[in-house]
Amino acid sequence: MSTDSDAGDADAPDAREADDALPGEYDPDEVESKWQRRWVEEDTYAYDREAALDADTAFSIDTPPPTVSGDLHMGHLYQFTLQDFVARYHRMADPAVYFPFGYDDNGIASERLTERELGIRHQDFTRREFQEKCREVCADYEDAFTDDVQSLAVSVDWDNTYKTIEPRVQRISQLSFIDLYEQGREYRQRAPTIWCPDCETAISQVEQEDADKHTKFNDIHFDLVETGEGPADEDATFTISTTRPELLPACVSVFVHPDDEENAHLVGGTARVPIFGQEVPIIEDERVDLETGSGIVMCCTFGDQTDIEWYQAHDLPLRIAIDESGTMTDLADDYEGMSTEAARAAIIDDLDDVGALVESRNHEHTVQVHERCETEVEYLVTEQWYVEMLDRTDEYLEAGREMDWYPEKMFTRYQHWIEGLEWDWCISRQRDSGIPIPVWYCDDCGETIMAAKEALPVDPLADDPPVDACPECGASDFRPEEDVFDTWATSSLTPLVNAGWDWDAEAEEFTMERPELYQFDLRPQGHDIISFWLFHTVVKCYEHTGEVPFESVMINGMVLDENREAMSKSKGNVIPPEEVTANFPVDAARYWAAGTSIGDDFPYKEGDLEAGERLLQKLWNASRLIDQLTGEPESIEQPADEDLAAVDRWMLAELDDAVASLTEQFEAYEFSKARNELRSFFWNSFCDDYLEIAKQRLDDADGGADARSTEYALLTAHQTFLKLFAPFLPHVTEELWQRLYADGGDGLDSVHTTDWPETRGYEADLAAGETAMEVIAALRRYKTDNGLALNADLDRVQVYGTIAGFEDAVAEAMHVAELETLDEAPEVTTEVTGVDLDYSLVGPEYGSEVGDIDAAIESGEFEEVDGKLEVAGVELDSEMYEIEEARTYSGDGEMIETESAVLIVG
Ligand SMILES: [Zn+2]
Ligand SMILES: [Zn+2]
Repeated sequence: MSTDSDAGDADAPDAREADDALPGEYDPDEVESKWQRRWVEEDTYAYDREAALDADTAFSIDTPPPTVSGDLHMGHLYQFTLQDFVARYHRMADPAVYFPFGYDDNGIASERLTERELGIRHQDFTRREFQEKCREVCADYEDAFTDDVQSLAVSVDWDNTYKTIEPRVQRISQLSFIDLYEQGREYRQRAPTIWCPDCETAISQVEQEDADKHTKFNDIHFDLVETGEGPADEDATFTISTTRPELLPACVSVFVHPDDEENAHLVGGTARVPIFGQEVPIIEDERVDLETGSGIVMCCTFGDQTDIEWYQAHDLPLRIAIDESGTMTDLADDYEGMSTEAARAAIIDDLDDVGALVESRNHEHTVQVHERCETEVEYLVTEQWYVEMLDRTDEYLEAGREMDWYPEKMFTRYQHWIEGLEWDWCISRQRDSGIPIPVWYCDDCGETIMAAKEALPVDPLADDPPVDACPECGASDFRPEEDVFDTWATSSLTPLVNAGWDWDAEAEEFTMERPELYQFDLRPQGHDIISFWLFHTVVKCYEHTGEVPFESVMINGMVLDENREAMSKSKGNVIPPEEVTANFPVDAARYWAAGTSIGDDFPYKEGDLEAGERLLQKLWNASRLIDQLTGEPESIEQPADEDLAAVDRWMLAELDDAVASLTEQFEAYEFSKARNELRSFFWNSFCDDYLEIAKQRLDDADGGADARSTEYALLTAHQTFLKLFAPFLPHVTEELWQRLYADGGDGLDSVHTTDWPETRGYEADLAAGETAMEVIAALRRYKTDNGLALNADLDRVQVYGTIAGFEDAVAEAMHVAELETLDEAPEVTTEVTGVDLDYSLVGPEYGSEVGDIDAAIESGEFEEVDGKLEVAGVELDSEMYEIEEARTYSGDGEMIETESAVLIVG
């Protein structure tokens, strides 16, 4: 009997009372929301700290706090679900799991959301007032977010959540700043900074990204005033090429490469900048790119990072032509007040008018933009706070090596990021809202006054400094720091936030409220933020604790659409998670999410969701059948080993194998392997083979000793399957567990808090068992094909193939009176019956001859010689054809061949 949806009830023996039995159809709509509610109400996923402390271990996960700015997207669904596989598996396998949830509501996105929602501007409020408003607005969104996450059955412990804007986190963020300062790992410096003229703030290297841009490459004449040897000819000029002529007023020198013989005579001379007229030195430097333009370049303060290097290396003057908002300064004379774009166009026109523009041609190049707003960055001299990093890149690389990477290849992204690091980490931002930098400065001597650790969190704009007089000069007036932290300066502290890191003023030391969590077992996250979140977390935690924060990191890829394109609003191919969960059970979506190797980008596949849905029904139907076939679970005792039937022992041994293999795969985050192996074992070996046999055996045994063996194996296998499927399919497994096995006492006896199955030590010849299953399936087909009842007797069956130990099982299951195993293969004659041509290869090669070839094959006039087919005067290569053969058995009875056995029935 099949376990498919339409079968399973009519002829089941000993069916339990109808009102007790599982309904025929699984109803995910009702079941899923019911369990999502119950799990939260019952605190099913609460962190069991006592168990963790008793066992001296907890599996801790540092989950990514999503930005609170709107709706859940497919990437969330995918990422949360992957994390949940880990959490659910370890909750069953380990003494305790710490699976927290954070809301990142301290960034620009949440501020904009608050302004939009309330119709206010942050500038109209004090920082504290505005943050209060952010927390109010975000609270509603966070509630919605919580509902969404719960509706995906993510097994978060809702008693352990945090918000990056909450005072406790602000305190940790400010503590981190003060600790790094005291360790000498931070400095404040007035220097060129990467600057976003749109956001009007400094940003860090990680926030700039490459963008391709169409622009003009302009060849411009500079007047040569002096060469290296002396005064130049009256009208001597040279050409420089630039994409940014608006920087001409900021030009401070001209550079020539030391290998550039043609221009060597210029070095040591002076040039005059067109239109603006300043005279600048001509200097040699190896950083000149000889490949582009004329080989002579101008240096402006600042057009790019090389300009900054030249400025520092050659001690050049500073000429600032562009201000914080990307507007031209008074240095730009007539162009003052223009945007850089407008000034560029105007200056090109004017260069043309004065005859200094040689050529202006289209050009495509890579520029640096701010990743948040895609505005081209500038480099401005401003005063900022930095975390020193460049001096310890080797240590941070080594720290990265100490963690286990899943997949391993993702380590190279971490490595490449560190190897390309050119800046220390600028952590101050010129924004109004955000976590304040807890510092004041002496008005007289500029001395830096840090807040007292015990007073944190503070807002220097509202709070007083911890001293009445400057410890350096004794003055009593102080200026508050107005800048706030980069959001990554805070989100890089999530392991410390989760572990309850704090300063104990009495003991004068840092403490952790939950030290058993640190270091964290796992950091799960996307590959797009390895350089942002992971790297900065390693830096911060390493500096604060001297330890790498994570045992291992699991890096997931991105969700793509069905055509493997990135989902984006502009392409209109975004699939919202609610659309998916409206059409499919959440368990089916989770089945899909388990379908790709960790780290690979991942297409949305409706086919996988449908397959998931079929699996739920299959699991339901099989459970229903098992429920009908077996007695009360508590009444079934484990039979003595000698009372265990071979086929039952085989199933239990197979199960041991699957448990061992799945345990390894879950430990190694190999979810797609685990999912596929489990599904195939359950569907093929258990449902299609074993369950059919078990039903037959129970039919025949009618309550005898054999029945106990089979009932025991069935129930053991079924309970094990529910547990193995539980991390993937939490709803259907819970529903079945509750209906069939839960103890019904106080509180929820959830399948998700049971112990992960262990191997039971059953031994059987698995290969022989599998061959026996093939033989049984073949005989079942034989009976069906010949119109025989499944329990009809067969007089004699001969088997060639290894089924040692399972002979009786086969004979019993298929009612074979005499089962004989053969030592030698039955005599079989092989006869060629035809040839299957691959016309896509033969056609193009032989064209009009194909008709003749067909005719020759039809009349049997062909011969295979040395792997080629000689036919109709041509020779076909082996890939063009396949010889079709019929194998016939000339003895008594009918021959049936399976993958690993040959049967003679009769
Ligand atoms: Zn920006
Ligand atoms: Zn002072």
